Amino acid sequence: MLVRSRPPTSRVRAVLRRTFFVTSAASLFLHKLSFAKGNVMMDDPMLAPWVGAHGGFPPFDKIKKADFKPAFAKAMDLMRGELDAIAKSTKPATFDNTIVAMEDAGRALGRVSSVFDIFTSTMADKEVQQLEADMAPVLAAFDDEIRQNAALFARIKAVYDARESQKLAPDQLRLVEVTYKSFARRGAALGDADKKRMKEINGRLAALFTAFGQNELHDEETYTLALDDKDLAGLPDSVRTAMKSAAEAKGQKDKWLITNTRSSVEPFLTYSSRRDLREKAFRMWTRRGDMGDAHDNKKPITEILALRGERAKLLGFASHAHWIIDDNMAKTPDAARALMMKVWKAAVARVREEVADMQKLADAEKAKLKIEPWDYRYYAEKVRKAKYDLDEAEVKPYFELNNVLENGVFYAANQLYGITFKERKDIPVYHPDVRVFEVSDADGKALALFYCDYFKRDNKNGGAWMGSFVDQSRLLGTLPVVYNVANLPKPAPGEPALISFTDVTTMFHEFGHALHGMFANTEYPSLSGTATARDFVEFPSQFNEHWALYPTVFTHYAKHYKTGAPMPADLASKIKKAASFNQGYKLTELVAAAELDMQWHTLPASAAVQQPDVFEKQALERTHLVLSAVPPRYRSSYFSHIWFNGYSAGYYAYLWSEMLDDDAYQWFEEHGGLTRANGDRFRQMVLSRGNTEDLAKMYAAWRGKEPSVEPMMKYRGLKESGH
Ligand SMILES: [Zn+2]
Repeated sequence: MLVRSRPPTSRVRAVLRRTFFVTSAASLFLHKLSFAKGNVMMDDPMLAPWVGAHGGFPPFDKIKKADFKPAFAKAMDLMRGELDAIAKSTKPATFDNTIVAMEDAGRALGRVSSVFDIFTSTMADKEVQQLEADMAPVLAAFDDEIRQNAALFARIKAVYDARESQKLAPDQLRLVEVTYKSFARRGAALGDADKKRMKEINGRLAALFTAFGQNELHDEETYTLALDDKDLAGLPDSVRTAMKSAAEAKGQKDKWLITNTRSSVEPFLTYSSRRDLREKAFRMWTRRGDMGDAHDNKKPITEILALRGERAKLLGFASHAHWIIDDNMAKTPDAARALMMKVWKAAVARVREEVADMQKLADAEKAKLKIEPWDYRYYAEKVRKAKYDLDEAEVKPYFELNNVLENGVFYAANQLYGITFKERKDIPVYHPDVRVFEVSDADGKALALFYCDYFKRDNKNGGAWMGSFVDQSRLLGTLPVVYNVANLPKPAPGEPALISFTDVTTMFHEFGHALHGMFANTEYPSLSGTATARDFVEFPSQFNEHWALYPTVFTHYAKHYKTGAPMPADLASKIKKAASFNQGYKLTELVAAAELDMQWHTLPASAAVQQPDVFEKQALERTHLVLSAVPPRYRSSYFSHIWFNGYSAGYYAYLWSEMLDDDAYQWFEEHGGLTRANGDRFRQMVLSRGNTEDLAKMYAAWRGKEPSVEPMMKYRGLKESGH
């Protein structure tokens, strides 16, 4: 369950249908300086420059697990030498001899890291897990060593201070600022005493994050609900089977077990007709980390908040949220809050209608109850069946994976951007399930390599994500090599892979990230492709989801795998209708969680020590998001996203990037929908530009105005209320 260090520029990861962007400040720098000159150690397949079609690719046929440790050691040494040469130069610091030289350092380490990353995320057997555990502290220490290199920072600062007078191009100026900030935000500009305190704070926070995660895990593993066969009313076979094997894993015979995790509790709440047990399961699940025992998370939360507040103050910010969001597209907590405030009334109004629908259904059944949180999913499922009944078995034959990929995902990209795809069987892959495509521009020029790895297997992380083996850079002369990973069920040999519409959407989503990486056309690797702020990075991917339902795209791929017949119109319209199901609930639980996160993290360092449960209740009351049937998606005591998974003061980013993606799609609708002209303009002004300009300015220049929330309300079937 722990999030592993991952270079955010190389990895965008989705969990469930919507997305989850994992980042780690510690790994950011390592990847940014990710391409070392490889004129040494030509014999090592990971360290030597990669060669081959489209600018080169990882030689997976020559890479052995045993090579990782020595390769990392050599690559770090190499980068250390490169940075030392910059830091110890006796010449005055300039953009070229400092900032550009840093962009050019660490190429070998970038290669090793990118290959290691695919091993740890998709082939993490015992040996790889051990390697990862061994390497994590070594890489973190190396990152610290770079950040604390005072001579190096002095030169960066000299360039930064003189940046206005150096006649830099806009992307160069941006690079200076991004580089300086990446050091300063970690405390490089502080005096010695403050630096020391910062180090103490970070060390203590790391310990608290571990404690928080372990407490949560403890409660997830310790508390379970063991049921007998008389308790299984309403549960479909798939849920029963999962509960049975959970019980067997714990050595409980003739029992069915609900474990204390979302994947176990949610299906139970959805299908069980036993209201008493639903309530029990719900209460168990929502008290994780809040049991008042030695594993209670309220204490770590209080301490994390105090330390974060203090650190923000050291760095000159009003609160942790101000510090975090300063680096994002929204720029201030107020801007993020303003979006939530625009949305919540409509969300709550909608969820009230949804609850009323359910109440009606419950009343008709003479259930004699008022819908409570443990009833919500159960009645929502009944409403869904009545209103939007979608039979997966009927739908899936129209979504055969390869057909969806080539006639849906690739087709939409071809129609919008003119790019073409050709499978390459001669390029070595890291696993037999992986396929490689060369991607060419409309004029036939090589653009990128695209790897896809769609099937679930042992030792592979859950969810779906995008990553890169090579980032595009004109400075380094590199073309992008990107990949998409997912966990779709693998069919038996010879059988077709038939997938759900949710999976189809996931493929479009991840390919949106891939396009952001493949269209990158920037000079400097640190500003390339997906190396953008948290509240922007999910925008291209969520935007790309829209094309899955676009009429000319949908009819091009939604065809029966045996007969080739198009999907019947009534089935297609059911799929479209189902997309708006439950939007009020989804939005409300999201806004409530985002609001909770923001209220916690805008507390200044001087704020009195808070009682987490009291604060949580008040925080939700303040925003009128208290609805008995809809709690926030996470309560504070198990909201690991914001306490240690890198989403602190950042949960709003989900909402922010959804606002952008719907607003962007609206532009396409206003300008004739799916056309080459529209696609090319979007590519040129947004997708190719990475982080080369202030993202709010970049967006507004393309859109012709600031993003607005109205399209999101429209596409979600929400109405803005009058006040
Ligand atoms: Zn994503």
